[in-house]
Amino acid sequence: MENKKLIDVFLETNALLQGHFLLTSGRHSNQYFQCAKVLQYPNHTTDICSIIADYFKDMQIDTVISPAIGGIVVGQEVARQLNKKFIFAEREDKNLKLRRGFELKEGENVLVCEDVVTTGGSVFEVIDIVKQNKANLVGVGMIVDRSNGKVNFGVPQVSTLQMEVISYLADECPMCKEGTPAIKPGSRKV
Ligand code: ZN
Repeated sequence: MENKKLIDVFLETNALLQGHFLLTSGRHSNQYFQCAKVLQYPNHTTDICSIIADYFKDMQIDTVISPAIGGIVVGQEVARQLNKKFIFAEREDKNLKLRRGFELKEGENVLVCEDVVTTGGSVFEVIDIVKQNKANLVGVGMIVDRSNGKVNFGVPQVSTLQMEVISYLADECPMCKEGTPAIKPGSRKV
């Protein structure tokens, strides 16, 4: 799927909103992104995740792992397309952990999948779990890289969409200067 068509899908599903938004950081932006809005639709999830699955299809992978909650849908679908096992790590006492009897074995080849990466914090935490279990990190797949290409996980990585986060201090916001009010979106994941 080409980038233009992909962006159209995010716009159609309101995953990507354009306007004038107040971010939790206090900065203003002309874009707001909520990945879950596009993943509501399994056919879009299938199409988007196929970009990640195709990228890694010739690599040795035993298991796909995601950080909960946002990454679960992505990891599950990539694992389904690659016909591999899927597990997830979830927060307990603020740290991501393997629960529910999930485990990684020494030497197991692992692909990490996430929905949106901004600083990469959750993905780095999952990578720590992979390393603690002496498993082998093969790569990282993500739907959207919002780090402007700055996050580097040190292994092959692919994102289906790269989006530059453009934000302004309230005092310097061009939309404010035009007199439109800033809207606070309903999620903290900005
Ligand atoms: Zn503004």
